[in-house]
Amino acid sequence: MTPVTQAERLMMLPSDQDASGRTFDEKEIAYVTEALRSGTLTTTKGKFGKMLEEKFAAKFGAKYAYACTSGSAAIHIAVATVNPNPGDEIITTSITDMGALTPLMYRGVVPVFCEVDPKTLNVTAETIAAKISDRTKAIIVTHLFGNPCEMGPIMELAREKSIPVIEDSAQTFLAKCGDKYAGTIGDIGCFSLQQGKHMTTGEGGMVVTNDEKLARHMFLYINKAWGYGDENPDHYFMALNYRISELQAAVALGQLEKLDECVASRRRTAAMLTELLAGIDGVDVPVAADDATHVYWKYCLTIDDSKIEGGSPALANLLKEKNIFSAPRYIVKPAFMCQVFQEKNTLGDSHFPFNLAREGAVDYTMENYPMTAKALHDVLVLPWNEKYTEEHVRYIADNVRIACSKLRK
Ligand SMILES: *Cc1c(COP(=O)(O)O)cnc(C)c1O
Repeated sequence: MTPVTQAERLMMLPSDQDASGRTFDEKEIAYVTEALRSGTLTTTKGKFGKMLEEKFAAKFGAKYAYACTSGSAAIHIAVATVNPNPGDEIITTSITDMGALTPLMYRGVVPVFCEVDPKTLNVTAETIAAKISDRTKAIIVTHLFGNPCEMGPIMELAREKSIPVIEDSAQTFLAKCGDKYAGTIGDIGCFSLQQGKHMTTGEGGMVVTNDEKLARHMFLYINKAWGYGDENPDHYFMALNYRISELQAAVALGQLEKLDECVASRRRTAAMLTELLAGIDGVDVPVAADDATHVYWKYCLTIDDSKIEGGSPALANLLKEKNIFSAPRYIVKPAFMCQVFQEKNTLGDSHFPFNLAREGAVDYTMENYPMTAKALHDVLVLPWNEKYTEEHVRYIADNVRIACSKLRK
């Protein structure tokens, strides 16, 4: 049986934490060198920041795009731009990166967590609707793992209630949602350019919008609210410096030019894995919504522990022996179970903004999130990147099959 001999060898998979799983080459080196030689490293004066913003907007089909220092900064900019009052609420997902939550508290916003679909781990129109109150200032939808949320019903709900939608697309680049890309459907889209994302400049982020007024505010929020180019510029409101440098922009520009290829490669190898894993009882492969494409930041399996002894963690342990370092249960507990939320550790001992919260807004208990608990319990997150080859995919598939047969109940 060939699969067994394949799987018996110990293979090193490419990693997105070093050159083995990333795509830096002469292109980025040439751009960075040009930026350095120019002597201009601030994007307020150099050309790479502007080129990155123009080309990112064009690539994604958004009117405006601005670079910023991180995905967390992108979320902060978006949240500040919807201009909440202290104690207002933003609905978000219980499964996300802390970088998508901390900016809310800094801006005085109470995070209201909603449930997720246990199959995709994404929020839905129904789970969001259950959390809307008269203090809801915005909805953040997070396209997890490269798989877009079902935006049709979400946008319908949001438009009906006149609530702006912020898309956290940090894990999802060039994923089709109908005839648009994820990140360009809501009012503001946020992307991360951190080391492990589809395109990277080590640390960095992007914000996009089609709305001129929002765009103006986003630009200002990145620039200490200084009115660059205005007749009588001033610092118009409270805002930070969230600019990246020309060096980062030069790298990001090179990465953007390879993004189509990167996404195509991830989709091609993921489709291969889906085919190879078909028909394993108790193991479900990822599914995209009807009108959407999955761009595979990671490749998630759903493991049924009534069929696979020990479920996701047991499978992960066996895979680890084969150098396949998966993340069983992803973030393990919902974001609201982290100490920062449980103890409300924010500014001094004020508990701000929770001290201003509407009664019932702060619901940070496991009991009320059975779908989130189920989603995290079952998920096994396989690492993925654009350098995977057919050989790597066969190696993973063979080892998943072997591990499942060992754990078969
Ligand atoms: C990575 C990530 C962020 C934060 O991005 P940073 O660049 O690390 O600040 C936010 N949201 C999601 C869903 C992410 O995956």
